Amino acid sequence: MQGGIAIAGLSPVVVPVFVSNIGCPHRCIFCDQRQFSEPVPPEDVPGVVTDFIASCDRADERHRLIAFYGGTFTGIADDLLERYLDAASLLVKQGIVHGIKASTRPDMVSSEMLARLKRAGFVELELGAQSMDDRVLAASMRGHCADDTVKAARLVRDAGLQLVIQIMPGLPGEDRQSFRRTVDAVAALDPDSARIYPTVVICGTALEELYRTGEYIPLDLDEAVSRSLFAYIRLTNNGCRVLRMGLPPSRDLRVAAGPYHASFGFLVKARAYRIMAQRLMDEAGRDVQLLVHSRDVPELVGYHRENINDLCFAYSFDDRLPRGYLRAKGLTERGCVQLKDIIEYIL
Ligand code: SF4
Repeated sequence: MQGGIAIAGLSPVVVPVFVSNIGCPHRCIFCDQRQFSEPVPPEDVPGVVTDFIASCDRADERHRLIAFYGGTFTGIADDLLERYLDAASLLVKQGIVHGIKASTRPDMVSSEMLARLKRAGFVELELGAQSMDDRVLAASMRGHCADDTVKAARLVRDAGLQLVIQIMPGLPGEDRQSFRRTVDAVAALDPDSARIYPTVVICGTALEELYRTGEYIPLDLDEAVSRSLFAYIRLTNNGCRVLRMGLPPSRDLRVAAGPYHASFGFLVKARAYRIMAQRLMDEAGRDVQLLVHSRDVPELVGYHRENINDLCFAYSFDDRLPRGYLRAKGLTERGCVQLKDIIEYIL
């Protein structure tokens, strides 16, 4: 496959290449490094990438990226890092992929490193900020502070790379106020995209020990959904795309406690529609018919039809409405709500 023009509307092909943990000298309280799979060696990268692309539908018409995940990419020892960069860079030059991205820690980013990544064909860097509250970061034994994230984000932007930020609601020591400050501070970094991973207690971690002794109480699912919804709305209002909410299901994931749910992202969006429906029904009365874009119907109805069963509303769809809007039929004034209208009702 040579080059290929990315067609608007088709999702990109993101080829995950796991470099699990080889760059990480840290022991964050929530991370079980034994759960990581074996890293893909640099010499296997071309095969992994071409096999993955060959398995994708219409891959030659889509934007294709290599994503080095599961570790602290910029912390990998120099000679090994060079071998990964050489392998990935060759795939860019051959037109097999259009670019490269990776995730890393905020305290392992420098302008020299970013220049090196750029030369190799990087287009994006993802920073694990997790929290912007130094007390929470210290309690989570992250080994960096919020200011490291601010500096790293600026360097990523100055290097002309896309910026992605990860946050983890519910880390030790975090309360609602601290989380709101984190979300505001992340929004101020103006990221292109974000991922929201509520903290779950993974078996074998130091966090599990704190949980067993009662020193750490994880968020319940309801609170994790609320905090994530707050962040989702605040960040999307700021022009940031939220790529994922909740840990992806995995055979290797062993959860001891906490707000893990296989459909977490759906729960968050369904909560938004529940609040919007409730507001319109308060305004227009219980008999009102709600109108929504047809692709938003599942979120309006809710997980296992929870929203419609609890609130007992009638609905229909109208594809002239933008996604994310809910309208009360027949009501002209205050007859329409959208996600940004409900942020003050969440936390
Ligand atoms: S920096 Fe990332 S990989 Fe390293 S211990 Fe923390 S969470 Fe795990």
